[in-house]
Amino acid sequence: MNYVSTRNKRLRMTASQAIIQGLAPDGGLMTPEVLPRLPGNALESMKDMSYQQRVVYILGRFLDEFSARELSSFAGAAYGRNFDTPSIAPVHPLGSGVSCLELWHGPTCAFKDMALQMLPHLLSASLDKMDEEKTACILVATSGDTGKAALEGFKDVARTKILVFYPKDGVSDIQQLQMVTQNGGNVGVCAVAGNFDDAQAGVKRLFSDRALAEALAERGYFLSSANSINWGRVLPQIVYYISAYCDLLRDGAVSGGQPINVCVPTGNFGNILAAYYAKQMGVPIKTLICASNENNVLTDFIRTGVYDRNRPFHNTLSPSMDILVSSNLERLLFELSDRDEEQVCRYMDQLAQTGRYQVSPAILTRLQATFSAGYCDDRQTKQTIAQVWKQFGYLIDPHTAVAFHVLDEYRKNSGDDTPALAVSTASPFKFCTSVLSALGIEEHADGVAVLDQLSEATGVPVPAPLAALKGKERRFSDWTEKSGMLERMLNFLR
Ligand SMILES: *Cc1c(COP(=O)(O)O)cnc(C)c1O
Repeated sequence: MNYVSTRNKRLRMTASQAIIQGLAPDGGLMTPEVLPRLPGNALESMKDMSYQQRVVYILGRFLDEFSARELSSFAGAAYGRNFDTPSIAPVHPLGSGVSCLELWHGPTCAFKDMALQMLPHLLSASLDKMDEEKTACILVATSGDTGKAALEGFKDVARTKILVFYPKDGVSDIQQLQMVTQNGGNVGVCAVAGNFDDAQAGVKRLFSDRALAEALAERGYFLSSANSINWGRVLPQIVYYISAYCDLLRDGAVSGGQPINVCVPTGNFGNILAAYYAKQMGVPIKTLICASNENNVLTDFIRTGVYDRNRPFHNTLSPSMDILVSSNLERLLFELSDRDEEQVCRYMDQLAQTGRYQVSPAILTRLQATFSAGYCDDRQTKQTIAQVWKQFGYLIDPHTAVAFHVLDEYRKNSGDDTPALAVSTASPFKFCTSVLSALGIEEHADGVAVLDQLSEATGVPVPAPLAALKGKERRFSDWTEKSGMLERMLNFLR
C-alpha cells in the first residue's frame, strides 16, 4: 500500500519511506492511499486472539512490505514483559455501560508507550528495506512525557541513536528522574536553560540547518523525529481501539455489531484520530467525543467549524493536553473533505498566516455527524478524580479525569446512553501531587517519596517502573545554554 501527502495526492511513497521521513516534503502528513476495511468476520475472529496477534493482523493490512513474521517479531518485542499486564491495553468495566480503556501499562506509565514501543522497530526495519546505510539520530525536545517514552522505545534499537533535550526547570522531579536515569548504549539526555519553547526552538533550528545535515551525512548520520505526526506513531494506536471492541465482545459487554461511543482526552489529535480510523475500518463506533482542558480550541472547532488559536494559553493540571495547534487534525480534514488537497492547503495556509480558519458547511456537517466535544477546567478535573475514587474506588490521573467529566456531561445532555469507552492516558502515579490534592491531601512529600504517599493514602500499588526510580543511578547531569545545543549534539555523535 502506498501513502500520500494530505497536501498533494501525487506525492506518493511506500510505508517505509513515510516512516523514515515523518513529515512529507511539502509539509503535509503522510496518509494511507486507501483506508483498508476489516472483513465482515474480523472482529469476531480476533476476539480470542492475544494483543500481539491482533497487532500483526491489523498492521499487516497497512504495511504490505513487511512479512507476518517480521510483524510478529516487532509485536513481541514492543508489547512483552515491558508491560505490567499480559493484556497490554486492558478494558476496565465501571458500570452503567461505561468502561475505561487503560493505555498506561507500558514502561513509562503513559499512553505514548503504545506507539513509541513500536515505532523504533518499524523505523529500524524501514531503514533496512530502503538500503539506507546511515544511522538515524532521533532528536526530541520534550515537555516531559514524550522524551522518556521515546528514550525507552529507542534504547539499544539497532541503527538508531536518540538525544533528548528538556527544559531545565520545566519538568517535574519524577519526570526529570525518569529521563536522567535512562539506560541504553545509544541514548543521551541534556537539560536546556530555558522553557519548553526554548528547547523546541533549538531542536527545530538543528533540523533546518543544511550545513549540519551535510556534515552529519559524512559521519554516517541523518536526523529524524519521533513526532506524533509520523504515521509510525498513529498506526499502532489504531490497534487498541479495535482490540478494545474485541474485548467487549469477548466479555459479553456488547453483542456483535452493537455500537459504542468513545471519549478521548485530546491534545495533538493523534489518539482520537486513531479511533476515527478504527471506525472507518469498520469498528461499530457511533460518536467520538473529543475531551479538552481549558485549552479548548477543539471544543469550539467541533461546535462551530471555526478553528482559532488566537486565545490565551493555559497551564493546566493536564499538561500533556496544553496545546493550541493540534497537528493531526490535518489528516481528519483530508478525510472529511473527500481528500480535497486544495481545500486542506487553504486551511493550513490560513492557520499559518492568521491562526484561524473556518471549514465549509459540508465539512462541518460531516464533522458533527461523527464528533461531539466538551471541555473541563482544573476545578472540575479535581472534582472528577475525587468522585470517581469515591464512587468506584478507581484512581485516575488528571488527563483521564478530563475524559470522564466530558463523557458524563455528554451522556447527561444528550441522553445517549450507548455503551461508552473512556480512554485513560496516564497512570495517576505520574501526577501524584495533583491527585493527592484532588483527594483533599494538601501536604506532599518531596521527590520520589510522594509515590509512596499516594500509594499509602489509596492502597493502590506504585507501578514498578516508577517504584524502581528510587535506587536508580543518575547517568546524565549535563546541561547547556540554548546556544550550546549544536555542540552537545556533535559531541553526542562523536
Ligand atoms: C500526549 C498525551 C495526551 C494527548 O494525546 P494526543 O494524541 O496528543 O491528542 C493525553 N494524555 C496524556 C497523558 C498524554 O501524554
